[in-house]
Amino acid sequence: MSAPTEGKREGSLQAPTRHPLDWKNPEFYNEESLFKELERVYDICHGCRRCVSLCQSFPTLFDLVDESPTLEVDGIKKEDYWKVVDHCYLCDLCFMTKCPYVPPHEWNLDFPHLMLRAKAVKYQKGDIKLRDRLLTSTDTVGKLAGIPIVVQTVNASNKTKVLRTALDKVAFLPFGLIIDKWRWGVFSGEISPDEYNRAWWELKLRYQGVAPPSPRGEKLFDPGAKYHVPGNTPYMRYFLADILQFQFHRALAGIAGAEGPLHRASIYESQAAGAKLDAMMRMGLRQPWPDALEALTGEREMDATAILDYFAPLARWLDERNAGRTCGW
Ligand code: SF4
Ligand code: SF4
Repeated sequence: MSAPTEGKREGSLQAPTRHPLDWKNPEFYNEESLFKELERVYDICHGCRRCVSLCQSFPTLFDLVDESPTLEVDGIKKEDYWKVVDHCYLCDLCFMTKCPYVPPHEWNLDFPHLMLRAKAVKYQKGDIKLRDRLLTSTDTVGKLAGIPIVVQTVNASNKTKVLRTALDKVAFLPFGLIIDKWRWGVFSGEISPDEYNRAWWELKLRYQGVAPPSPRGEKLFDPGAKYHVPGNTPYMRYFLADILQFQFHRALAGIAGAEGPLHRASIYESQAAGAKLDAMMRMGLRQPWPDALEALTGEREMDATAILDYFAPLARWLDERNAGRTCGW
């Protein structure tokens, strides 16, 4: 559905050209033409395989090819095409950093846009779970949350909600950190091959307070159980995303003039907060991240204190409950 391209420039040494999605055109939702385009692009990717470590979409595609009777894309069942689409979470990395065939190359390949189109077709067909429908409909969620009985129920569960959020977000942070601490240790030579497993469990104990349930040893390779280790996928982005999420929330709550503790602050229906977020998102991936961060928060450095602010009531409550006890490891 993208416009034709100007010429063949393999190597992606220049910035890719991104053509707008033609999403108002009925042809955009034509399943037959979508499948033709999916087959064309899957075939190029099968011949290239450069993105195999980026996400689960590509290994899924290559496994489908390798297990097909013809060992080519034409041997994949059409209904299995969706398996590749389902794994794409639209991070844009394959377009921005990897693919030599993005426009202006004549092959005109924009894998994330094609995945987005496929998801739109699936959505329009109604072939989507209620859960996903609700989660992507932010207006509906906002309206539901505004119904008085829902408000009362949500307010009543607020005390436990912040605890649930902490279990999700705070407990993730040490885990998010150790993956790359271990990878960087391996890459720098600080962790040698004869201590891969021992170093892994030392980091887990130090940062997470987690010990193995049974004796381990160097004949085992426990870090390999985390996909990002054998897949050679950097993990720091997930760790930093959690920090930035709270920093963004604190800034937006301030812009929206939200009152009360940070964990209850809502920016729902705040045009000022929406405009600020929009302005930052419009900067895209090409601006230095401190500029984008500054556009939204006024700060040029990441700041984890927003997490402390958000969970301050919980921290106070835990301090009271645990007074006189020795906690930690
Ligand atoms: S945009 Fe989709 S297919 Fe491309 S790397 Fe990200 S998740 Fe994978
Ligand atoms: S998106 Fe581009 S770089 Fe990635 S596997 Fe496909 S053709 Fe290769």
